[in-house]
Amino acid sequence: MNIQAPASAAEAAATLHQRPSREEAEAAVRTMLLWAGDNPDREGLLDTPARVVRSYEAFFSGYGEDPVEMLARSFEETEGYDEMVVLRDIRLESHCEHHMVPIIGRAHIAYLPRDRVVGISKLARVMDIYSKRLQIQEKLTAQIANTINQVLKPKGVAVVIEAAHECMTTRGVHKPGVTMVTSRMLGAFRDNSDTRREFLAMISAPRSAMEG
Ligand SMILES: [Zn+2]
Repeated sequence: MNIQAPASAAEAAATLHQRPSREEAEAAVRTMLLWAGDNPDREGLLDTPARVVRSYEAFFSGYGEDPVEMLARSFEETEGYDEMVVLRDIRLESHCEHHMVPIIGRAHIAYLPRDRVVGISKLARVMDIYSKRLQIQEKLTAQIANTINQVLKPKGVAVVIEAAHECMTTRGVHKPGVTMVTSRMLGAFRDNSDTRREFLAMISAPRSAMEG
C-alpha cells in the first residue's frame, strides 16, 4: 500500500474521517434546522443549507493551507535591518472549537529580525490561515508565534490577541463587552524586559497620534 504524507491539515482530516460530500453537508444543515424547530421546506430556508455550506468553506478555508510553507516561500534577507517590526490592530475572525461560533477581535504581531524579513501582509496571512480553522484563542496565539519563530528564526516574536467570544457574549454567561487577552512571547520578548516593554508601549500607543 502506498501511503503518502498528507499535504494539508484538510487532507489529513479527510484521510482519518472520510470527508462528506457537499450534499451530505447540506443534509446535515437541514437536520440542524429541524432540530432548531423550524421547517427547512419553507421558502425562506430552501437555499439555507447550500448557503451555510458555502459559508463554512470561507470560515474554514485555513485547513487547506499550510502557513509554514506559505511563509517559507516569502521571506527575504534583511539587508541589515534589525529593528523591531510591529503589526498592530489586525482584524481577527475565527470560530471557537467548542461551540462553532465567532471569535472576533484584533491581533498584534511583532518580531525582531535576525536575517530574514517578510512583507507585513504575510504575517497577517499566517494569522488568517490559523484563524480560519476551529480554534481556542490560546492555541491560535501560540501557533502564530511558533510559525513565525520556526520559519524566520528571528531574535524574538511576540503575539497578543484581544478578542470577544460569542459563546460567552450571546449564550452561556451572557457577558458582552468582555474580551479575552492572550499573549505569547519568545526569544528577546520573553528574556529582555526592555524589548517587551517597547512592544507593549507600541501596541498601546494612542491610534490617532500614529495616523495624524
Ligand atoms: Zn466557545
